[in-house]
Amino acid sequence: MVISEIFHSLQGEGMMTGRPAVFVRLGMCNLQCTFCDTTYTWKKGETDYSDETNERVMESISKILDEYPPTNLIVWTGGEPMMQQRNIVAAIDYLNQRFPERNLEHEVETNGTIAAEPEFDGRIDRYNCSPKTVMSGNKRYDVKLLHFEKTTYKYVVGNEHDCAEALCEIERQKLPRMRCLFMVLGTTAKEMQERGPIIAEICKKEGITLCLRLQCILWGAVRGV
Ligand code: SF4
Repeated sequence: MVISEIFHSLQGEGMMTGRPAVFVRLGMCNLQCTFCDTTYTWKKGETDYSDETNERVMESISKILDEYPPTNLIVWTGGEPMMQQRNIVAAIDYLNQRFPERNLEHEVETNGTIAAEPEFDGRIDRYNCSPKTVMSGNKRYDVKLLHFEKTTYKYVVGNEHDCAEALCEIERQKLPRMRCLFMVLGTTAKEMQERGPIIAEICKKEGITLCLRLQCILWGAVRGV
């Protein structure tokens, strides 16, 4: 398993915002977004791009779960975690067996380019899918995760133009608006404050849920939070 970092924090984005969780940030990504704030997960050559053994990864996650007994949410993030589904399946089975009383919930943060294999999908409670529009620097693509009951679609938007592009994509792919979020582009509280109000007005009008990045507001542009 290629891992970038493992840490305990609060979920900062999506419907579970504010909830304590163990974050397992996997390395590698199949996109290269212009606004990516975790390039260290996929830019080779950086010192923290490490290929840990699965055993060490499991121990790190277990240590955090031991340290924070009430925490029962694991967020598999990246990078693009769907590139390592088989490893995640093995990890989930190990953790569920090691912490049988904890009723662990497993949430995946993904760009939606890769379909879930059945054995993976069966173990995942929620997908925080963040489809990328052309403004990200990537080509247009169709989201591969259309399991509406457990998937939300979070579009990164910084202005009216980005919102219009995201709305076109939502319509084109027939995604349910009640499951869609507009997440304000930025990594600082100042950016959330500056861009948030305009995007909030569009959300009110269009029936989209607004998402501010809690970790950026609380701690700014730092890693491991
Ligand atoms: S999909 Fe996510 S991790 Fe990958 S490049 Fe884009 S923002 Fe970064």
